[in-house]
Parts: sequence; C-alpha cells; structure tokens
Amino acid sequence: MGYSKHTVVIVGYGGMGSYHGQLISSNDNLEVAGTYDLLDTRRQASVEAGYKAYGSYEEVLADPAVEVVLIATPNDVHKDIAVRALQAGKHVVCEKPVAMSSAELKEMIAVAEEAGQVLMVHQNRRWDEDFRIIKQMYEAETIGTLFQIESRVHGANGIPGDWRHVKAQGGGMLLDWGVHLLDQLLFMIDSKVVSVSSTLSYILGNDVDDGFEAVLQFENGIKAIVEVGTTNFITLPRWYVKGLEGSAVIEDWSLTGKIITRNNEAEHREPTPIRAGVGLTKTMAPPSEGSTLTGALPPAFELPDGFYSNFVAVIEGTAEPIVKNTEVLRVQNLIEAIFASAEQNEVIKNFDTHGA
Ligand code: NAD
Repeated sequence: MGYSKHTVVIVGYGGMGSYHGQLISSNDNLEVAGTYDLLDTRRQASVEAGYKAYGSYEEVLADPAVEVVLIATPNDVHKDIAVRALQAGKHVVCEKPVAMSSAELKEMIAVAEEAGQVLMVHQNRRWDEDFRIIKQMYEAETIGTLFQIESRVHGANGIPGDWRHVKAQGGGMLLDWGVHLLDQLLFMIDSKVVSVSSTLSYILGNDVDDGFEAVLQFENGIKAIVEVGTTNFITLPRWYVKGLEGSAVIEDWSLTGKIITRNNEAEHREPTPIRAGVGLTKTMAPPSEGSTLTGALPPAFELPDGFYSNFVAVIEGTAEPIVKNTEVLRVQNLIEAIFASAEQNEVIKNFDTHGA
C-alpha cells in the first residue's frame, strides 16, 4: 500500500518556525515541504536545514502539493496569512496568540468553516508537565478542592527580540507568555470567569507591557492570580496552589516542589507561640509536630495525544481537536478584558462566554 505524509510549509522561519521544523519532522505522518520567510537570511537558513525555500507566499498557496500552512510569523500578520491559506484550501496550524483581537479570530474561524479546512492553534503549553501536575491536583483533589491558584513566570532579561517591543506587531508580555498561562487556566477550570482585575507594567519604557498581574475570580469560587514579569532578578515559584486540605508549590521547570497537607489522623494540638520580629505569634507559628504531612507532587495528568498527532487525527477526521477554537476565543476575550481592566483601572465583568 502506498503511504504518503501530510505536507506542511512553515511560514515565518525564525526561532519558533525552526522549532516547528523539528517537531513536524519527528512526526511519522507529517513532513516539511518547505518554508517561506520574508528575509533572505532565513531562506538561506531553511536551505541549510534541508528545506526548500519558497520565493513568495503566492507560490506556497499555488502549490497543490502543500496541504498544511504552519504560521510562525509575528502576531500582526497571522490573520491575513491564515485566511489566505484557508481560502486556498490548506489546513492551518497557527502560533499563539492566533490573532490580535477576538474580532480577528472570529473572522478566521468563519473562513475555516466556510472553506471546510482545519484551523488549529499551537497552545503547546497545555502539555507542559508542571501544568499537568497542577491539573491532576485539581481533578483528583489531591490537596482537597482547590480555591486559589497562583501561576507565574519570572525572568530578568526584559523583552527579547525586535517585534515583541512593538505594539502594532502584537508585542508585549500579555500577548506572549500571558496567552499560555491564561489558556492553561481556562483549559483546567471548567467554570465561568466572573470578574478580572489587572495591572500592566511598563518598567522598561517600551510602548508594550513588559509584564502584568491579573486576578481572576471564577464562578465556582476559585481565585487565580496570573503574573508575568521580565524584571524579576529573584523569581517566585512557577505555581503556588491552596486547597481545602493543604498547599502545594512547584518552584521551577525542573519540577522541584512538594505538597503539605493536614494530618487528619493526628490529635489536635495548639501550636507553640514563636518570637517573630519584635513580637510573639501563635497564628503564624509552624504547625505543631505531626499535624501536617509532607509529600511529593503527584504524577502529571495525561492528555490523550500530543499536539501534532492530534492535529493529524483531526485533519484525517478521526479525532476532535484537543485545542478547540471556542476555547482559544475565550482566552482572546479574557485578554481583552485584562487590557480593559488595566486601562480603565476597573474590575471587568460579563465578558466570558463559558457555557453560553
Ligand atoms: P521570530 O522573530 O524569531 O521569527 C519570525 C519570522 O517571521 C522571522 O524570520 C521573520 O522574517 C518572519 N516574517 C515576518 N513577517 C513575515 C511574513 N509576512 N511572511 C513570512 N515571514 C515573515 O519570532 P518567533 O519568536 O519565532 O515568534 C513567531 C511566532 O511564534 C509568534 O506568534 C510567537 O508568539 C510564537 N511563539 C510561540 C511559542 C510557543 O511556545 N508556542 C514560543 C515562541 C514564539
């Protein structure tokens, strides 16, 4: 039996485009048919990597051998590149943030539906192990029902690169790491976001945010704090979560962390007061001996498939997408609410379409 792979052209062969080349090549059912980039240097890099470099985007679209367009350009041109590919009968995988606004994304979804082509967004951090450990704790109530989730990424390198500094190109950290952290939360918590309040930081003097903090209140009672910082020379833990029976922390990408839970077997004993600063405290003293249990983080929640294997199954019509466009649209709405909250110094409500 003849067997052929699905052919992908990578549009935007920069940092992430090159990484997609490796991901696609390691999938048995996909192959890179070539790349297209505006820059000669990147076309040359493509040829050096063994990929054909198309001379124009029109040439990509006109090539009947191309089934899939992978978009890894700066954010402001995602929509146009995606719409043209879909209308030319190609499937599209698009980097995050898929669009500059919810209006743009709605247009892209409508074009995909009309063309009968697949549009799937690369929300790859749903597969991050640190996140899947927290998702497992949420699902299994390892430390009891979660009521507070703090998700942070901190760096001290400022905003990297060129276009990430430019508002018109979709720069700034909310549209960068923010998209991942918010997508993880909405993917995990099956409840409506009833309000959001936020601040954006402009410490570095760019016209885009170099970090932000957002406080989300969910209908089911969970409060989430999401923070991205690029001026943090000392970093706070990647995750800090509280449940009715304990607390958990994941410090870093190497998954250093622990859970501490109430020991329900132990007899209740009042903690011994300690000296703290220039005073005494019982409230903030360590729990009395034996009253808590320290344990390892649970194994991570398993997703049914990897991103690209799922994508292949979706275009072959044998599976539902793990990253659904309705979910991506919710994240886009949330991002708009976070921008609005920061600009207006207001708590924003009634924006989430969950369950609508
Ligand atoms: P980059 O600057 O390294 O690469 C972008 C490339 O696109 C450049 O080579 C540029 O010449 C090219 N380009 C610009 N406009 C083009 C156009 N109209 N047609 C063809 N090529 C064009 O940027 P990057 O860091 O690779 O980011 C690219 C995208 O990937 C962004 O949307 C970013 O948010 C996303 N990204 C996602 C992740 C992730 O983990 N999912 C990580 C990094 C970046």
